[in-house]
Amino acid sequence: MSITHNLGFPRIGANRELKFALESYWKKESSLDALKTAGAELRQRHWAHQSKLDWSPVGDFTFYDQVLDMSFTLGNLPGRVRDLSGDSLDNYFRIARGRSAVDGVCGGGIQASEMTKWFDTNYHYIVPELSVSTIFTLNASRLIDELEQSRRLGVKAKVVIIGPLTYLWLGKTKDDSDKLALLSRLLPVYVQLLSKLAACGAEWVQIDEPILVTELDSRWQQAFVLAYNTLHTNHVKLLLSTYFGQLRENLSLACRLPVQGLHVDALNARDEVSNVISKLPDDCVLSLGIINGRNIWKTDLTATLDWLEPIHRQLGHRLWLAPSCSLLHVPVDLESERKLDIELRSWLSFAIQKLHELSILSAALNNGRQFMETELRDNQSAIAARKISARVHNPSVKAALARIDANMECRTSPYSERARKQHEQLKLPLYPTTTIGSFPQTEEIRRARSLFHRGELSESSYNSAMREQIAHSVHKQEALGLDVLVHGEPERNDMVEYFGEQLEGYAFSQFGWVQSYGSRCVKPPIMFGDILRLKPMTVEWIQYAQSLTHKPMKGMLTGPVTILNWSFVRDDQPRTVSCQQLALAIREEVLDLERAGVRVIQIDEAALREGLPLRQAQWHEYLQWAISAFRIAANGVRDNTQIHTHMCYSEFNDIIASIADMDADVITIETSRSNMELLDAFDHFNYPNEIGPGVYDIHSPNIPTQDHIIQLMRNAAKRIPAQRLWVNPDCGLKTRAWAEVVPALRNMVAAAHTLRSTK
Ligand code: GLN
Ligand code: ZN
Repeated sequence: MSITHNLGFPRIGANRELKFALESYWKKESSLDALKTAGAELRQRHWAHQSKLDWSPVGDFTFYDQVLDMSFTLGNLPGRVRDLSGDSLDNYFRIARGRSAVDGVCGGGIQASEMTKWFDTNYHYIVPELSVSTIFTLNASRLIDELEQSRRLGVKAKVVIIGPLTYLWLGKTKDDSDKLALLSRLLPVYVQLLSKLAACGAEWVQIDEPILVTELDSRWQQAFVLAYNTLHTNHVKLLLSTYFGQLRENLSLACRLPVQGLHVDALNARDEVSNVISKLPDDCVLSLGIINGRNIWKTDLTATLDWLEPIHRQLGHRLWLAPSCSLLHVPVDLESERKLDIELRSWLSFAIQKLHELSILSAALNNGRQFMETELRDNQSAIAARKISARVHNPSVKAALARIDANMECRTSPYSERARKQHEQLKLPLYPTTTIGSFPQTEEIRRARSLFHRGELSESSYNSAMREQIAHSVHKQEALGLDVLVHGEPERNDMVEYFGEQLEGYAFSQFGWVQSYGSRCVKPPIMFGDILRLKPMTVEWIQYAQSLTHKPMKGMLTGPVTILNWSFVRDDQPRTVSCQQLALAIREEVLDLERAGVRVIQIDEAALREGLPLRQAQWHEYLQWAISAFRIAANGVRDNTQIHTHMCYSEFNDIIASIADMDADVITIETSRSNMELLDAFDHFNYPNEIGPGVYDIHSPNIPTQDHIIQLMRNAAKRIPAQRLWVNPDCGLKTRAWAEVVPALRNMVAAAHTLRSTK
């Protein structure tokens, strides 16, 4: 008998109920009790969806973030909130969101904790704050309450927690102290937690240690041995869970730890499974993640069974089956989708459908395939149809891909030659000023868009409303005296969706929301087929904007790597191929913009770094194809067309050489969050082209002063020759108000004037 379980269920709710409950509580429109009730109802509903499983996760629900939950469970609260009164959930929101979270409940002025990406997903967690003086004390009330609730509902509960090593690894020490030194203080609290859970009737605890799929040095590996020998108890069984990748050099370690079960990602690490089986002790459960928890495609059940049956014969009841990772990263229910056509829908599977696939697999293994004949046949025909569908495979796209040659990646002349021609043509002053693309997305813009989508505003009225917005932005920029202008992006809802909607090969769900952080969700577009650009996507808007000014107007595009990294991607071809297809589509757009007389074209690659593999050993390969895709998109232009790119909110220093390889004439880059730490990279690396280090932190309502901007730029000029510096904000201005943007840009332009005259 194989056993089925789930590592985690999306908590946001099929209709984003959690988001709305949270936001209503934060706005003080509803009570804390109402919020807690909403949480309890969601948990109940989600367990009901999992009722066919042998074990359902308990503790995977969270009001904001599972890592922050663990910090609370371990009593690791930042000192600044420890003595504050109010419900502990209010304190929790203070750490998650800063003082605005619960304004008025108690004094303000609380700084939120840092937030960063959860491994290589687009989910963001709240970084645990650690220091030499961190102490841990157990607070198991959340887990105990949820365990109680599950018991009342008759759920077969498997408690989910984050393991001690992954917890420390995710944390950040502000005082540069050694995180691992905290392990001896942390382990006793985990021991207490496990015995408390055991006392409350927990039989299995899933202890997540995804860092086992990353490169660990020997200290961390040894710490695993110490930790799990300490946690070993006869009171609860531990299912050590790894996901998102291969164990590789940590495989023997993972198999040797004294736990009762091991979960591995059998999609990413399929080749390792036989090795794991041979190394795992005879009484240890092996849980195989065989359904993709991070993508939305239907599983090929027959192929999976072909692979699983011999393993099942070998392991019998020791074999557990699950999705590869928590289903947090996929939308809840495909049934809600009304607009996707039947054919496309038949290829997809969201969280609820994935659990159904799991039951079919398990029933077929346990009772024989004949009992699941209809289900397997339906599945097989959907899988087969997708493989040969003309909607997926477009011969003309494949032919264009085959014609890609190395020359397409290269500009005609080297940067120095191009720069000369561009400067002659653009006649820009020293320290040219520009912005990153978007201007405030005002209420007015949003209203027009939603009326248009609801069919209450005609296309022509919508277009003229957007033109008015563009004209408004252009006039503001002229009045401010900026040098290279933008159209302001009023017509774009989102920098990826906007392009996806116009490309063949992309589909959009109505309710396919995935949590990004807290109450924030994204609806990644679904790339299902070969990508074809049917017609110009941005040219008319930019041409119109250019017609309003004599200053250069930037064409504004999203780059292939960013579009790829923010989409659900195809699983039937390598990501590199999908990325090349996107690159060809963007290249066509770039060339059309150039033909339309646009002299400066910006191709944003905000998510370039997000695609980096978890293991550094694989970075090179990724960077090679990602940079090549950008170059295909950008480098078909003539020497005198100036290519810009833009990046933000990630570490750049360790990939600066690859960024230089993109060979964009200009890069604008966010620096404020790290206080211009970016510039350190230029001490050792001679960045060859032009660069605009951001001088206006667009996430803050603060207006940067002229002096501050001058100081930042002078600092930059110590490392990069002034002839190659630009002055610009950190990122797009769409979330700010005009009342902030205008004085900030005024100071920016004034600072540039001062810099020019005092050099
Ligand atoms: N051009 C986009 C904007 O200005 C860039 C956004 C981003 O980098 N995330 O909004
Ligand atoms: Zn940005």
